[in-house]
Amino acid sequence: MSRTPLIAGNWKMNKTIAEAEAFVQGLLPRIATAEYAEIAVCAPFTALQAIVDSTRGTLLETYAQNVHQETSGAFTGEISIAMIDELDVHGSVIGHSERREYFNETDEALADKAIALLEAGLKVIVCVGETDAEREAGEMESKLRSQLEAGLAKVPDDRLGEIVVAYEPIWAIGTGKTATPEQAQQACAFVRTVLAERSAEQAQLTRVLYGGSVKPDNAAELLGLPDVDGALVGGASLDPADFAAIIEGARP
Ligand code: PEP
Repeated sequence: MSRTPLIAGNWKMNKTIAEAEAFVQGLLPRIATAEYAEIAVCAPFTALQAIVDSTRGTLLETYAQNVHQETSGAFTGEISIAMIDELDVHGSVIGHSERREYFNETDEALADKAIALLEAGLKVIVCVGETDAEREAGEMESKLRSQLEAGLAKVPDDRLGEIVVAYEPIWAIGTGKTATPEQAQQACAFVRTVLAERSAEQAQLTRVLYGGSVKPDNAAELLGLPDVDGALVGGASLDPADFAAIIEGARP
């Protein structure tokens, strides 16, 4: 089963519109022949329109970093799916560990966000991952299972293949401490096993990304693993040369 790799950059709370535009101009020539991959940046809301406008007809897709699950209403400070859809944004990452930790994002909210994005025709990357303490306690698999079961509860079995799951061990995010290839492969394969309990066929279609200190010098090895179908990249996605080098690591 060949799955198109997805390399997505998560900029977090970085880059003004001007900085985002400079990044795009730096990246586009470097990815001109990267048709082997899907490429995206998950940008702050304020920069989405500018990125969409300057990347039409290119290989670079634009994602949000979060959406609200309700269609409209009294949710001060939130952004709806219709609002990003209107900008021609391609999708959104949801459930990043920083949102879970600092903004009390729950699996129940994620379940609503995931199905609402799919129903709006947008792509969705759902993040899961264990803490250091959970791994040490032998709870990695139970943590991933519970996040996947609850977070994807409203996605019908026959649409699981449309979802992208990003396995991001929390101890590897922004720490420079990358999972070993064995750890990344084992966890991403486990994610697919859990999905296969609902639909073996769909689980073969689901892209499972690895995220956590992916850099130009470790990307090719991680991206070559059988159950790793791409990467979610934080820090190294802020620089066009580094991000392009990571994308290059997915070249067959
Ligand atoms: C992330 O923010 O999803 C991430 C993986 O960050 P970093 O690559 O910096 O570890």
